[in-house]
Amino acid sequence: MLDYDVKANLKEVTAKLPQHVKLVAVSKFHPSEYLMEAYSEGQRIFGESQVQELQRKVTELPDDIQWHFIGHLQTNKVKYIAPYISMIEAVDSMKLMVEIQKQAAKHNRTIDVLLELHIAEEETKYGLTLDTCRDFLESGEWRKMNNVRICGLMMMASYTDDTRQIKSEFTLAANFFDEIKNKYFADADYFCERSWGMSHDYPLAIECGSTMVRVGTKIFGPRVY
Ligand SMILES: *Cc1c(COP(=O)(O)O)cnc(C)c1O
Repeated sequence: MLDYDVKANLKEVTAKLPQHVKLVAVSKFHPSEYLMEAYSEGQRIFGESQVQELQRKVTELPDDIQWHFIGHLQTNKVKYIAPYISMIEAVDSMKLMVEIQKQAAKHNRTIDVLLELHIAEEETKYGLTLDTCRDFLESGEWRKMNNVRICGLMMMASYTDDTRQIKSEFTLAANFFDEIKNKYFADADYFCERSWGMSHDYPLAIECGSTMVRVGTKIFGPRVY
């Protein structure tokens, strides 16, 4: 017996998700048997943030899982996940893009990515400021990267109880999405993802245009680090 009812929790979360919102089950630090519980309920997208842990889980779990890398990814580790990763959600530098392009090309595949925005007030969070992101897109460098597909934006709101604060951050991200969608991706149907919302704020995130929520604790329980 698991000490957390993963199946029941998952059902509770998915029951409330609008159809257009994807669920990334954030399984970092949880054992593979927890993931398998969610898998047996039909969950296929899982989010991990440590390369070593992900590598191990990939060998232990079914092949049709879509793995999303949601943490800060070091450039020198891209090569390990490039053969199979379904989406790299937290691209926060051009250097990382260049490496993803290189490794994706090596494996003759296209890797979907999201650009991570830094909007929250915490100093510690990674991500591109809105202006850095604008410069990044304006440079046009990414247009030559045929093995990387920019599918949208990802961000984390400040960790606070202040709903107004969280809402204003999600809204800022949503408006920024519209800005760059119109400017650079108007004809690109694949540029459609707004990955925001975690266990404590995903209902609000959905109100603010999220298309992809990353929920861990609410499904798998507290993580033991
Ligand atoms: C851990 C993590 C989550 C999930 O957080 P919960 O509060 O457990 O739902 C979502 N997004 C990112 C980037 C994370 O690192």
